[in-house]
Amino acid sequence: MGKAVRAAPAPAPQVGFVSLGCPKATVDSEHILTRLRAEGYRISGTYDGADLVVVNTCGFIDSAVAESLDAIGEALAENGRVIVTGCLGAKGDIVRETHPEVLAVTGPHATDAVMDAIHAHLPKPHDPFFDLVPPQGIRLTPRHYAYLKISEGCNHRCTFCIIPSMRGDLVSRPVGDVLREAERLVASGVRELLVISQDTSAYGVDVKYRTGFWNGRPVKTRMTELVQQLATLGAWVRLHYVYPYPHVDEVVALMADGKVLPYLDVPFQHASPRILRRMKRPANAENTLARIRAWRDLCPDLTIRSTFIAGFPGETEAEFDELLAFLDEAKLDRVGCFAYSPVEGAAANALDDPVSEEIREDRRRRFMEKQQAISAERLARRVGRDAHVLVDAIDGNVAIARSGADAPEIDGHVLVTPARGLKVGEFARVRITSADTYDLHAVPV
Ligand code: SF4
Repeated sequence: MGKAVRAAPAPAPQVGFVSLGCPKATVDSEHILTRLRAEGYRISGTYDGADLVVVNTCGFIDSAVAESLDAIGEALAENGRVIVTGCLGAKGDIVRETHPEVLAVTGPHATDAVMDAIHAHLPKPHDPFFDLVPPQGIRLTPRHYAYLKISEGCNHRCTFCIIPSMRGDLVSRPVGDVLREAERLVASGVRELLVISQDTSAYGVDVKYRTGFWNGRPVKTRMTELVQQLATLGAWVRLHYVYPYPHVDEVVALMADGKVLPYLDVPFQHASPRILRRMKRPANAENTLARIRAWRDLCPDLTIRSTFIAGFPGETEAEFDELLAFLDEAKLDRVGCFAYSPVEGAAANALDDPVSEEIREDRRRRFMEKQQAISAERLARRVGRDAHVLVDAIDGNVAIARSGADAPEIDGHVLVTPARGLKVGEFARVRITSADTYDLHAVPV
């Protein structure tokens, strides 16, 4: 938020909002903003215009903690009345110790608690503008794509992660609620639904795949059944955070049938069985390469995105080589790699044989060098082919678009020239003319 001239006296109190963190935190922000608007509060785009400011924080890694603390400090300096929510709020007393003057602190996924704090410090307006709230709620993503959170929390206990200690065990949203939200989003103009959770493949485990209802029809609370129904809405459906379990084959079959985008975001994190066990990763006993081969046999156009950690405690040079060899074999399309970073409170910090920071960084660099060549080779295979793209933005004569192989915010783009006749939020047919490491170039057809 930037500084601006104070707004004219307003009939309703105004709340400023700073949203940091991952897509899951963005969804929390959207829920809070929706409630605020539903109760008649106005949302201020400036610190000056706000009667108080809510900061939704991230506490995942140390740099995110520092960024969140800075954002709180800035809001305090600029406005003075600050309520903190999000993952950092769940990390002990760090917020209060650093910024004792904040009005209230809550953890993530705590819309009710945030609203209570807002009511206490900035009473609700008397004339709620219920009718002014669009039924799909307030969203922070552009109009044409939206994140659809299907569950909260996680039953796994990966040793590098503190999410379960902050957000608790898996709680799946009722399948009817998820589908109704998706339906509303599509009716409001959303063209792409991004399904997110901590572990999408585990959807419904906590409720024993209970049968729910949508439009009078029974639907099981289970990933395949959910995806089958989402596929009927006429929007792109993209799956994030899926683990390589056998039942994922079922959704890959739906992808092969053209029902959902042939795209899987599978955070493998490593390839050495010993390191995966030390990480306590879900599906660590699966034969991942065989699974990837089976998926590609079933759906040759499948795009696989993943993330990895280099230099996890105990990782030997031979185990790192195993990871590089895996990359050569797996030929993943999109990959991110982090050098291991000890997160305060994570069990992995107590593991023996930590890898020095220098080696962690060096391995990350070597990993990315190898993967860049693989990504470029995978993209080059698409040159000469036609693609269906969704236009995110227009910049002069270039339409910045994405194909089914590109998730917003994390993957590359298809840059279409000329942009004439193309519109933001609409689909177009293009021919790919060239490729570089991350992006494709195309012309309309
Ligand atoms: S699967 Fe592992 S990394 Fe992901 S949220 Fe659960 S514990 Fe954390």
